[in-house]
Amino acid sequence: MEFFSLNDPTHKASFKDAVIAGIAPDKGLYFPREINPLPPSFFEGIASLSHQQIAFRAIRQFVQKDIPDNELEKIISNTLDFNFPLIKIEDKVSVLELFHGPTMAFKDVGARFMANCLGYFFEDSEESVTVLVATSGDTGGAVANGFLGVEGVQVVILYPSGKVSEIQEKQLTTLGQNITALEVSGTFDDCQRMVKRAFLDKEITRIQKLTSANSINVARWLPQLFYYLFAYQQVNGLGEELVFSVPSGNFGNICAGLVAQKLGMPAKHFVAATNSNDVIPNFMKNGTYEPKPSISTISNAMDVGDPSNFVRIQKLFNNDFDALSASLSSYSFSDRETKSIMKSIYENKGYLMDPHGAVGYLGLKRYLKDHPDWHGIFLETAHPIKFLPVVKDTLGVSPAIPPQIQKVMGREKIAIAIHNYEDLKIHLTKNK
Ligand SMILES: *Cc1c(COP(=O)(O)O)cnc(C)c1O
Repeated sequence: MEFFSLNDPTHKASFKDAVIAGIAPDKGLYFPREINPLPPSFFEGIASLSHQQIAFRAIRQFVQKDIPDNELEKIISNTLDFNFPLIKIEDKVSVLELFHGPTMAFKDVGARFMANCLGYFFEDSEESVTVLVATSGDTGGAVANGFLGVEGVQVVILYPSGKVSEIQEKQLTTLGQNITALEVSGTFDDCQRMVKRAFLDKEITRIQKLTSANSINVARWLPQLFYYLFAYQQVNGLGEELVFSVPSGNFGNICAGLVAQKLGMPAKHFVAATNSNDVIPNFMKNGTYEPKPSISTISNAMDVGDPSNFVRIQKLFNNDFDALSASLSSYSFSDRETKSIMKSIYENKGYLMDPHGAVGYLGLKRYLKDHPDWHGIFLETAHPIKFLPVVKDTLGVSPAIPPQIQKVMGREKIAIAIHNYEDLKIHLTKNK
């Protein structure tokens, strides 16, 4: 499949070049030239397919020219070796748990898929690439884990000192090998500014290839469409209209869900649920896109004031607002509403949601109020243990620490302290 830049459709790239570059030279996001629907028989027979078979058939058209089928099978089986259970929590409402991977965040799937693709592209190559990424918490751990030991790929993660949870810090500073953690005396925005500056710095890019591992990268964004197919597989045959609610920050995950719909998955509607960062809920109300500085909330992986993937969503609907509105609604919820629903679902249904999943639940219930006969699925994007201080404070309970997390807690943190852009530049150019 050919990809093109959303800033200039005449700028083309193969899947491989799009993955290695991350973003087009004109700073546009890459987008597939076509999205060809899967045959109806795929959806009718989905119950008898394995996760690997579903993923293979869904993503094959996008990568086919650059990754042969046998390699794609390997990449997929390395990516998907854990479960995605769908759990009914009340009549018409189920939760799709995406946190059973190695770092207990849904970003594990995209990070592993991308790491395996780069590993394939650089195996037996003299060249190498450096993945440079800023994290406010969850991305760093998933990327560190996914890329650990991949030959030809170095990973450099910037994180704000003192602003990520203890678990998150351990997940990104204790692995070693090809993973380096840089602890920045500053905020997440400072980390992101430094990363953006490095991508534009010819003195760095002249001597080494840099790429990003956030959802701008097509290899991290597209495999997220698997989740929706795995959920559909479990409700196929219910005979009810289906709506998905997705807790959203940069809108990569929900955009992948809308790609699954384009592939022919019979889901009628999507809800983008946000915290107080309400740029898209406002856009869906009045049709004007007004980016804002981000606001800190308890669901901090969604504190985004200018969601990077929304241009892809608009492109999926050819920038037609009415067509978009037919498939997408968006609502914003405060921290107070989020805490209150976490408490009531825990006390009344015995289900423990993390703050991001709770925002997804609220969005779903808002939509179902006007569509009482529909079946709703919300995505739970992180295990509650990843946001322990909020969970403890809200519910007064501490969930047991799962084995994946226990394993890293005992390890020694190794991070290099950096204070400014020059420090980063020295780090990226030494030994080259
Ligand atoms: C990244 C993240 C999100 C937001 O996903 P987007 O694809 O950026 O919309 C939601 N919840 C958690 C726990 C996350 O880590």
